[in-house]
Amino acid sequence: MFFHVILTTDCNLQCRYCFGESMDDFDEDFGDFELDYNLPRKAGYNVVYLEKFCKKDPDCVLTFYGGEPLLNAEYLRQVLDNVEAKHFMIQTNGQLLDRLEPEYVNRFHTILVSIDGQEALTDYYRGKGVFRKVIDNVKLITKNGFQGELIARVTVMEQTDINEQVKWLLDNGEFSFSSIHWQLNAGFWGNDYARRDFKCWSQESYMPGVEKLAHFWVDQMAEKGVVLRLYPFLGIANSLLLDKEPSLMRCGGGWINYAIQTDGYIIPCPTMWGMKKYYLGHIAETDPLQLKKVFVSDAPCNKCNVLGVCGGRCLYANITKRWSEEAYNGVCQTVRSLVNNVIEELPRIKHLIGDGKVSLRDFNFLKYNGCEIIP
Ligand code: SF4
Ligand code: SF4
Repeated sequence: MFFHVILTTDCNLQCRYCFGESMDDFDEDFGDFELDYNLPRKAGYNVVYLEKFCKKDPDCVLTFYGGEPLLNAEYLRQVLDNVEAKHFMIQTNGQLLDRLEPEYVNRFHTILVSIDGQEALTDYYRGKGVFRKVIDNVKLITKNGFQGELIARVTVMEQTDINEQVKWLLDNGEFSFSSIHWQLNAGFWGNDYARRDFKCWSQESYMPGVEKLAHFWVDQMAEKGVVLRLYPFLGIANSLLLDKEPSLMRCGGGWINYAIQTDGYIIPCPTMWGMKKYYLGHIAETDPLQLKKVFVSDAPCNKCNVLGVCGGRCLYANITKRWSEEAYNGVCQTVRSLVNNVIEELPRIKHLIGDGKVSLRDFNFLKYNGCEIIP
């Protein structure tokens, strides 16, 4: 099992699609979900509970999460010093990575670091100077011996040219990433759709950009014999080539990848903190292997012909339905288009595998590593 350990709800940045949106969202009606507004800002439960909880699952993987998890580095060190897990991972905005000692950083199996592409774009979304600090810090941890997987975690919205930015992240003079995952800021907030231009942008820029990128991805296999770790393509191709079973929620949310709140209560996904209806137990008394599973069970996914590949995209978005059906339909169009892009490239991929240019093994990855696969 995978567990996001929410170390703090505080963040040291004020990104447009998170802090900015949450400010605009403040007065919105949140349906009939009773929210707990009194969660501790920092994880404060005894680390022994986490140690015992994790011990019950031989495959326990812990991913530090926030807010910004490194704002509670003290607790993080305690966990690393006292808890035995199969792997430790972290999702961070990268601003404080230089303050965590290499002996801790180098224990991470995977680090997902938020960066949205080139300097101007990253700083536009995330704040002035953020890009430079991320780059300095990823260079530093690499120099200090980090050998795990470093994934550029890209948030995408209307100012992003996906084809241009992903290619830039892969190959540039600052720091070239070999693993990239992106996610759309779509369907997570209550009142942003009306003031945004999501529909037009997704049709005119995003979907054509992803199609070009899919083509480029397979071109790179043909030219260089590499399967670039572009997670949305990698995850879908992995299923189409290797897995014959329909996919469940691909982030694992609600069935294999849960989250532990700052007060020790367990929820299906980190974005659902405080949603009392979805509290599934407490780490002090719950068996990680017996957790209740929560699946998407209603419209629009239950009638969708790509559900087996998509998995439902996002449990949180499905449950909370912050966007209207019509607006969310535009998100699903991007999913269908992405799935089609990979399906269309499949004959070429199979050919390259047959010719020995790339191998089926190149499509493997650690599932539920924080990449949601479906953006
Ligand atoms: S494409 Fe949309 S409707 Fe279909 S499974 Fe995915 S999220 Fe659900
Ligand atoms: S995709 Fe949705 S359900 Fe999955 S981890 Fe992200 S917010 Fe949670």
